[in-house]
Amino acid sequence: MNLLKERILSDGRAINADVLKVDSFINHQVDTVLMEAVAEDFARHFKDKGITKIVTIESSGIAPALLTAHELGVPLVIFKKKASRVLNGSLLQTEVTSFTTNSTYELTASPKFLKSDDHVLIIDDFLANGEAVTGAIRLLRMAHATVAGIGILIEKSFQPGRKKLEEAGFEVYSLARIKEMSTGHIEFID
Ligand code: 5GP
Repeated sequence: MNLLKERILSDGRAINADVLKVDSFINHQVDTVLMEAVAEDFARHFKDKGITKIVTIESSGIAPALLTAHELGVPLVIFKKKASRVLNGSLLQTEVTSFTTNSTYELTASPKFLKSDDHVLIIDDFLANGEAVTGAIRLLRMAHATVAGIGILIEKSFQPGRKKLEEAGFEVYSLARIKEMSTGHIEFID
């Protein structure tokens, strides 16, 4: 998606060969016009896949996931990074290793919002090692829901996330795929 790639080139900052900062338009301050364009693109791509729900992982995926859910006319379910006191009943939980902090957290969801006839699109801001998305898939499996596909804003294609997910049989649709990067340099896969 050209709009996103151009924005990454103008305002993104590769702080090293592995981590890209996008806090001026996605992760901290959010460009709502860009997020709307992102949502339109995801909705166009996934509109015929029979999606009943969108799932994202708090917090940076929420903005694009919410707008995509609105475009597709389906609910958004936000997976939490720790058990919330207001989520009642037995929770679905799985341990995930965070790419950015290298620590682990319990990805958590209430089974109330996931049913066996749900066909779910997972949306997240970044795909690196695929840990967050595979954690989300584990929770969906526990709820006996099915995965319709995975929508990613920024995929770092030099990290193994896409390969892992594709080998497991999932479709990964990424709006910007970074081939390589270093301080001051970002190169995309066409
Ligand atoms: P994964 O689980 O695929 O290894 O990493 C994906 C998660 O880590 C995303 O939800 C995102 O929050 C975070 N992440 C991974 N790589 C980056 C990065 O280069 N920049 C930022 N800002 N977040 C990242």
